[in-house]
Amino acid sequence: MIAEVIVDITNSEVDKVFDYNIGDLNVTVGSRVGVPFANRKIEGLVIGIKEKSQLPECKIKFISEVLDDFPALTQESINLVNYISKKYSVSKASAIRLFLPAEMRRGRVSEKQVEFIKINPAIDLEAVYSSIRKSAKNQLAVLDFLKSGKSARASILRQEFSASAIKALLDRDALIIDKIRVNRLPYSEMISEDKSVQLTGAQNNAISSVNNTNQQVTLIHGVTGSGKTEVYLQLIKEAIQKGKTAIMLVPEISLTPQMFKQLRGRFNELCAIIHSGLSAGERFDEWSRLRSGEAKIAIGARSAIFAPLENLGVIIIDEEHDGSYESESSPRYSTIDIAKKRCDYNGCKLVLGSATPSINTYMLAKEGSYNLVKMPERINKRPLPEVIVADMRDETRRGNNGFFSSYLKEELQSALDAGKQSIIFLNRRGFSQQVICRDCGYVAKCTVCDVSLNYHKSGDLLKCHYCGTNYKMLSACPDCGSVNLSLIGTGTQKIVDELKKLFPQAKIARMDNDTTRNKEGHYKILSAFAKGESDILVGTQMIAKGHDFPNVTLVGILDADMSLHFSDYRSGERTYQLLTQVAGRSGRAENKGKVVLQTYSPQNPVLKYAMAYDYEGFYEREVAIRKATKFPPFALIVRILVEATEEADAIEGLKTVYMPLKELYEHNKDAFLFFNKMKSPIKRLKNKYRYQILMRLTANNDAIREEIYKIVTSAELVKATASVEENPANLS
Ligand code: ADP
Ligand code: ZN
Ligand code: ZN
Repeated sequence: MIAEVIVDITNSEVDKVFDYNIGDLNVTVGSRVGVPFANRKIEGLVIGIKEKSQLPECKIKFISEVLDDFPALTQESINLVNYISKKYSVSKASAIRLFLPAEMRRGRVSEKQVEFIKINPAIDLEAVYSSIRKSAKNQLAVLDFLKSGKSARASILRQEFSASAIKALLDRDALIIDKIRVNRLPYSEMISEDKSVQLTGAQNNAISSVNNTNQQVTLIHGVTGSGKTEVYLQLIKEAIQKGKTAIMLVPEISLTPQMFKQLRGRFNELCAIIHSGLSAGERFDEWSRLRSGEAKIAIGARSAIFAPLENLGVIIIDEEHDGSYESESSPRYSTIDIAKKRCDYNGCKLVLGSATPSINTYMLAKEGSYNLVKMPERINKRPLPEVIVADMRDETRRGNNGFFSSYLKEELQSALDAGKQSIIFLNRRGFSQQVICRDCGYVAKCTVCDVSLNYHKSGDLLKCHYCGTNYKMLSACPDCGSVNLSLIGTGTQKIVDELKKLFPQAKIARMDNDTTRNKEGHYKILSAFAKGESDILVGTQMIAKGHDFPNVTLVGILDADMSLHFSDYRSGERTYQLLTQVAGRSGRAENKGKVVLQTYSPQNPVLKYAMAYDYEGFYEREVAIRKATKFPPFALIVRILVEATEEADAIEGLKTVYMPLKELYEHNKDAFLFFNKMKSPIKRLKNKYRYQILMRLTANNDAIREEIYKIVTSAELVKATASVEENPANLS
């Protein structure tokens, strides 16, 4: 028999299927195998098996070994590999990598095994007893301990009965070692709790709507605190009861532990967690538990959509609008798109949930392509928090130059007096600190990336957030020599410093990239806050998402309009989402919540809709704008980014890609709303020069889209690379 093998080399030239002779090995579709390739041995994956090869028999090499004792990929995964490699124009080898824990390749991680010791069943125990000297008390004690047939951990036996006694018995074959695989369970220290609740009418309605609709996809549009999580848990439970499996996705790492805790509480070890914050060993173990069927629920961030589960009963994507569901690095893919494919294969439902659905998703739901369920009220009809608008222009006029409006100071004091907690939210991007020369206007920039540097108080450093380079703080302006330098913008630390001055008695915690670099850092800070260990939590975007802090009654949003000014067609959508999510942290339990929103443009329509919790109103306006200005979902933005170390190579590469694209454009002008080549807004990043071709296509132009991918992948670039991005979140 012949196996069709994809070898683990992502180079596009070897992106072919190679035939290998199976010989007498036990190989099935999905097996990982070692194969000889160009004079070395490499790993490959079997994607098909056939009787005969087109090639002459003498040309076909033999598979050297089978790497695991089970097929690593399911048939469904192999179908998806084919789909992804075609749709997103990546090699099959790199698509396969999405489905395997990285540490499985090249045998970097092995299973964690623990040594257990027991009496060798093949030995005559009486003979052993009589051959041992009476003085060897430890050896006799070990035999007594184990003679009932049990096995015990080697490490414990060695401690209890001395290592030499164990060794002596092993040497005479009286004992044998069993290596038993144990799983490294992440977050195993978390106490699982299961609060069983009586479902509300709205929750029951949502569940039956998902079950009864003929549509594959249901959008649950439920305000923050409407009880969507309970709906998800119920749907997962039903799937498990039917003998099926489930995938539950949450955005990014910050939210995962909390959701996981809830799932653990309900389903115990039936759920496995998959995200990039786990150690290599943990990730491998969780993957193995899913692959073997021991775990039936995969929970995690984006990459958990590739979980090796069979017989899926439901896929849930919480906070479906979240940007982290779009993969920005190669291979780029849309999580919702992959999820739909998996639902097609398994004949199961996809549930999208959000308080602020993306414009795209909501449009599909309104048009009837998705089933739409609304949960417009919070659990127990708790009111949504009241929003107080602080006009910062007035504050400045009144001589208040601090970060906090008088409203916010007042409310913070009241919350402290009442023993309640508060959250202060700030938009990191709007608040990074830059060094400016007050005499000539010079702003310190990264010499590698050509973007402004950010000041970090700890270490007195200037850091480039794009490449991570550190610079010493300047003592004088490099352009004019002036020593009149100062900081603009504000970081979390500055906010904390001012808070400490205003409220010396308050305990303040801070959460941003600087404080949460390690694996479970998010979880630690959040759970300490949830336990009431501090009064005020200051943080960036990370604190905006889904956490449930019952004792929080106040959320302060500093500079709410900051994100409105990003040069991105989605800035209105992002601002609305962010404000709604942050406001949703307030008043989730019995306590009524308040939000103080500080802004320099209180008349801005996006802010007005957000303050009134009027998603429909926001949506109608936003769609009208997108339609008029021809932005997605009424168009598709495509960017081809060409990068090279030398500027001349980047320009050369740009030309190579541009020529055939220009031709495509000339022949299909109707399909293009925009077509041009240019320098990227950030001309240099991580030591690479960046040039780009920017296109905007009319909606529904799959054929053209495919042509573009084909042109870019087949372009013969020597010293440059080119990549395709669709509706990129970041156009810098
Ligand atoms: P969402 O995900 O929609 O923001 P949650 O699922 O976090 O909302 O629910 C908000 C709060 O209501 C949580 O504290 C949750 O424990 C509680 N809750 C959910 N469903 C019920 C119910 N049926 N009865 C009582 N409390 C509930
Ligand atoms: Zn200067
Ligand atoms: Zn840099």
